[in-house]
Amino acid sequence: MPEDLTELNLPPEETAFFFDFDGTLAEIVEDPAAVAIDATVRHALHALFALSGGAVAIVSGREIDTLDGFLAPLRLPLGGAHGSERRDSSGRLHRVEADEPAIERLAAELEDVARRHDGLLVERKRLSVALHYRRRPDLESTCRAAARAAASPGVTLLEGKMVVELKLSGRTKGDLIADFMAEEPFRGRRPIFFGDDVTDEDGFRALPQWQGIGVKVGQGQTAAAHRIADPAALRAWLQRFADRNGTRRVELAS
Ligand SMILES: [Mg+2]
Repeated sequence: MPEDLTELNLPPEETAFFFDFDGTLAEIVEDPAAVAIDATVRHALHALFALSGGAVAIVSGREIDTLDGFLAPLRLPLGGAHGSERRDSSGRLHRVEADEPAIERLAAELEDVARRHDGLLVERKRLSVALHYRRRPDLESTCRAAARAAASPGVTLLEGKMVVELKLSGRTKGDLIADFMAEEPFRGRRPIFFGDDVTDEDGFRALPQWQGIGVKVGQGQTAAAHRIADPAALRAWLQRFADRNGTRRVELAS
C-alpha cells in the first residue's frame, strides 16, 4: 500500500475533495463537544475550496449545525449524520425525516446503560443515538453488547472508535459522496476521500465507480488504496498541497 501521497496527480480543478471530520481533520478527544480544528486546517480547506472551484465537502457522523460551528467562519458543502443530512453546493438542505418515538426508545435504552456506569456519555442526534466510552475504554464490550441488544430491525448499528451508535436511516457516507458526485461542481471529477473509521469504509467502497482515491488515516483494515499516518500528517499534507498549488496558479497566471 503506497504511503506517499505526493505521487498522486491531483489537479485541483479536476479533483473532488472529501474529508471525514473526527479523527481525520480533527484529533479525537475525550469529550466530543470539545473538538477543535487547527487554524492551518481551516486555512488549507479554504485554499483548497478556492483552488478547486468549490469541490470540497466534509462527510461526517456529526450533524451539519455542529460541523458549521467547528468550521466557522468557513461554510462548506456538508454531509452529516452518517448520510441522513446534506447541504449541497448551492446551500440547499436535504434531510431524511426523523422518527422521534423511535429515537426516544433507543435513547432510553442507552441512557439506562450510562446511568449504571460512570464516565459514559449518551449523545442524541436527530436520526441516531450515540454512546461514547472515550473516558471508559474498559467498558467497550459492555457498551457494544448494550447497543447490539437495543438494535431492532430497521436500526443500523455503527461500531466506531470509542463509540457505538444506533442509526435509523440506512444511508451511508457512500450515499453522501454519490449525491455530491451527481452535482456541480463535483460532477465529472475524480474524487479523493480521507477517513479514519469504520463508517468511512462505505465511502471508500463507493469510490471505484469514479476511479476515486481512498486514503485511510491511521491503522486498521481498509478498502482504501492509500494510507496516511494520522491527522497531523494529513494537516501537513493539506498545507503543502494548498501551498504548492496556490504557487503554481500564481506562476501560470504570470
Ligand atoms: Mg472519523
